[in-house]
Amino acid sequence: MGAEGVRVEEVHLLPLGPLDHGLAEELAARLSRRVSAPCRVVDGRMPEPVRLPERDQVDADALLAALEARPTAKNMLLVGLTAYDIAVPIFTFVFGRARQGGRAALVSLARLDPGFYGLPPDPGLLARRAVDEITHELGHVASLPHCPDASCLMSFAGSVERVDVRGSTFCGRCHDHLPRWLRLR
Ligand SMILES: [Zn+2]
Ligand SMILES: [Zn+2]
Repeated sequence: MGAEGVRVEEVHLLPLGPLDHGLAEELAARLSRRVSAPCRVVDGRMPEPVRLPERDQVDADALLAALEARPTAKNMLLVGLTAYDIAVPIFTFVFGRARQGGRAALVSLARLDPGFYGLPPDPGLLARRAVDEITHELGHVASLPHCPDASCLMSFAGSVERVDVRGSTFCGRCHDHLPRWLRLR
C-alpha cells in the first residue's frame, strides 16, 4: 500500500555520506514549513554506496533499495540526502529517486548546487531546489506519476534549468491527488 492511504506523521531526512549538517538542518526546517508533516534530520548507518560500473557515480537504485530495506516506523517516511552524484544505468544522472507508492526517497544535492556548473555558491538557491526536489520525490511516494504540465512540480526535470522552470507548486490536477500531509502550505 502506498503512502496515499497512510497517515504520514513524520518525514526523516537521513544524510548519506559527507553532507554539511547545517544544510541538512536548513532543509528540514524549510520542508517542515512546506508540508503538513514535521520533518527532522536523523542519524543512521547506511551501507557503503555502490558505484555504477565504469562511472564515477553512485547507483541510485541500490541506495534507494537500501533505504527502503531499513526498518522504520509505520507512519514515517525516510528521505536519504546525499552530496554524491547519483545515476541509474539508462540516465546520465538523476536528481532523485523514489518508487510510486514506496516508503522512501533519495535526493542528490550534487547537480542542484550552482558550484557544479562553475557558478558562485548560492546556499539559498541550493536549498530551494533541494526542497523542491524532495517534494517532487515525495509526490512519487504518494503515488503521483510525472505530469505533462511543464510548470508543475511533478513534471520530469532532466536539467537544473528545468528544475527551476517547474518551480515549487503542483498543478491543480496533481494537487487534487495529493494526500493531506503533502498539500503545500
Ligand atoms: Zn520524478
Ligand atoms: Zn501536475
